[in-house]
Amino acid sequence: MATISAALQDVMARVARAAAMADRAPESVQLLAVSKTFPSTAIREAAAAGQICFGESYVQEAVEKIAALSTLPLEWHFIGPIQSNKTRIIAEHFRWVHSVDRLKIAERLSQTRPAQLGPLQICLQVNISGEASKSGVTPENVFELARQVRDLPQLKLRGLMAIPRPTDSPQAQRAQFHQVRELFEQLNARGFDLDTLSMGMSDDLEAAIAEGATIVRVGSAIFGQRTKSQG
Ligand SMILES: *Cc1c(COP(=O)(O)O)cnc(C)c1O
Repeated sequence: MATISAALQDVMARVARAAAMADRAPESVQLLAVSKTFPSTAIREAAAAGQICFGESYVQEAVEKIAALSTLPLEWHFIGPIQSNKTRIIAEHFRWVHSVDRLKIAERLSQTRPAQLGPLQICLQVNISGEASKSGVTPENVFELARQVRDLPQLKLRGLMAIPRPTDSPQAQRAQFHQVRELFEQLNARGFDLDTLSMGMSDDLEAAIAEGATIVRVGSAIFGQRTKSQG
């Protein structure tokens, strides 16, 4: 098993290659290291290798790690499903939330965001594959939700996040990411000022970068296979 530092270097090289293939600057793609289910010692290793932004999906586990690592200058992103009774703790501990998919959650995040932390950076999660089990706002409803979220005082709407249906076909991966990018462009054509496309994971980050991803969320390629589904 490669060390976390070596794995991180490999992933950064993949990101740089994919950006070059798409005629994009490597700095235009931010790497979010998804550390869910991994201990704070693993995060410490990645941080020592220069990684700053970390993604977490489970609130309780995340808050414990954030507390344990509070002396490090890390930036925390919440990327998991959001229960309405967890909005305050998310608003108090994270800089970004990628997984907002309904107004009620957005309103509660705005109401409970401590003013001294500045606005919470928000992506709307879009359900591009139409799978009933997946979270995410439908493409038809994303415009109205974006208008509503834009008006909430303690939130800053930055862009869209998507988790497409897994497929081994690079063409099918790209087609799904392309749909997300089209929605993003349609929103900006309607006067939104979005700059973030959060898409691409360990197995499909190249396709996502080819379609304009500005944040790729990478877990297992950095930290190894997850042995438990929830921490
Ligand atoms: C777990 C997770 C990831 C990382 O997935 P890997 O396949 O391990 O890279 C990315 N995004 C979200 C929303 C996740 O829950």
